[in-house]
Amino acid sequence: MTRNLPLVFDAPSRGKAPTHWLDLDPDDRREAMTAFGLLGFRADQVSRHVFDRLSDDVAGWTDLPAAIREDLAQQLFPALLTQVRQQTADGGRTVKTLWRLHDGSLLESVLMRYPSRSTLCISSQAGCGMACPFCATGQGGLKRNLSRGEILIQAFAANRMLTSGLVPGTTGRLNNIVFMGMGEPLANYKAVLGAIRTLIAPVPAGFGMSARGITVSTVGLVPQITRLTAEGLPVTLAVSLHAPDDELRNEIVPVNNRWPVKEVVDAAWEYARVTRRRVSIEYALMRDINDQVQRAHLLADLLKRRGDWGWVHVNLIPLNPTPGSRWTASRREDEAAFIATLERRGVPVTLRDTRGSEIDGACGQLAAKEASTN
Ligand code: SAH
Repeated sequence: MTRNLPLVFDAPSRGKAPTHWLDLDPDDRREAMTAFGLLGFRADQVSRHVFDRLSDDVAGWTDLPAAIREDLAQQLFPALLTQVRQQTADGGRTVKTLWRLHDGSLLESVLMRYPSRSTLCISSQAGCGMACPFCATGQGGLKRNLSRGEILIQAFAANRMLTSGLVPGTTGRLNNIVFMGMGEPLANYKAVLGAIRTLIAPVPAGFGMSARGITVSTVGLVPQITRLTAEGLPVTLAVSLHAPDDELRNEIVPVNNRWPVKEVVDAAWEYARVTRRRVSIEYALMRDINDQVQRAHLLADLLKRRGDWGWVHVNLIPLNPTPGSRWTASRREDEAAFIATLERRGVPVTLRDTRGSEIDGACGQLAAKEASTN
């Protein structure tokens, strides 16, 4: 069966974000300084304020000539995000923020504090064009791609929240970033890769994070997975499989009509082979849809074909039901039987915790609620 597929690569350009320091590569930053009549080395001074001190208060950067600070603030430090709402759970250790972009688009990011690390779930697009029927974001369609700056400012804001002691348990920085918020990161490839390069560039060029701490989650855009494989970046790849067979996956992950299960798994395996990074297979358990023992066997067959199990890890996610949707979480006993089957077959598997489910933690739920009340 063929059907009209969502636009995969071309998001509307309407609403393009204003240019921000966070959009720039090191070369562009030096050029920007020259345009202000300063020497190129000043770029590192500015970047130190941004990435090291997490400051955006340009007026207070007294090591820069007073005469240019106002222009610099206006031209390269526009306000990219306005906070609309914040919700916390888990004793303040899970913080979900709903942001409004300059053109009114909404996006959300979720900060999760664990005993020894902090993880931020970020958005790569306003909305999403992949149309997965169980996903709140998928129901609203794609508004537009986020700019590199709009992606990075989410990490900037979270780091600020952490270092200012607002999250119990730490004043440290982010250790992990997962592209599991709104949007399909590989459909906004250039901005996402640019953002990753800034996240991992050492201070002052970037945030100095470890590439291993960054996870790119994709619905399975095969050509883009192949492109990512060639980048030589040891980021973690997560593939939202959710079904081991084309018949079901065509329904619940519509882009499967274009790139079927086998091609997706082949591309993921190649990613693991080249990068030596274990791939995560995401599988949201949906009651009576994909949670049968027989499908657990199909999943094991599919992944086992690649030889040993070192290349892959299955991450089961209890479905977070979206209001008014017919998709819901599996019964406990079905969930247990699914896990037991995979374990017996030797598949490395974990059940993801459900942090933040009481604050509409599932992808796009908070933004969907806000949009429907406006
Ligand atoms: N578009 C990318 C990344 C964003 S979604 C992707 O598809 O991977 C991040 C993960 O959350 C995906 O695995 C997605 O399928 C899953 N997800 C979406 N809605 C969900 C829900 N209601 N409950 C549980 N997981 C959900």
